[in-house]
Amino acid sequence: MDCWHCKRTAVGTCRFCGRGICEDHVETHPYILDTFRSGDVNKVLVVEDALFCGACTPRPDPVELPELK
Ligand SMILES: [Zn+2]
Ligand SMILES: [Zn+2]
Repeated sequence: MDCWHCKRTAVGTCRFCGRGICEDHVETHPYILDTFRSGDVNKVLVVEDALFCGACTPRPDPVELPELK
């Protein structure tokens, strides 16, 4: 796979959109792995430095999912 920005060989893929990223263009961005409830508070489990391509725009907060039935 090639880098989305410069077409060099990618070293990883963006955690958010799946674009390829080379070592020059790799960035990191917090990624919410999971949300859970602890007592009366909702908590999120976050990876601070997930691979990020710099081209997509992850939302800072998770979007509410309409109920799936
Ligand atoms: Zn690149
Ligand atoms: Zn991306």
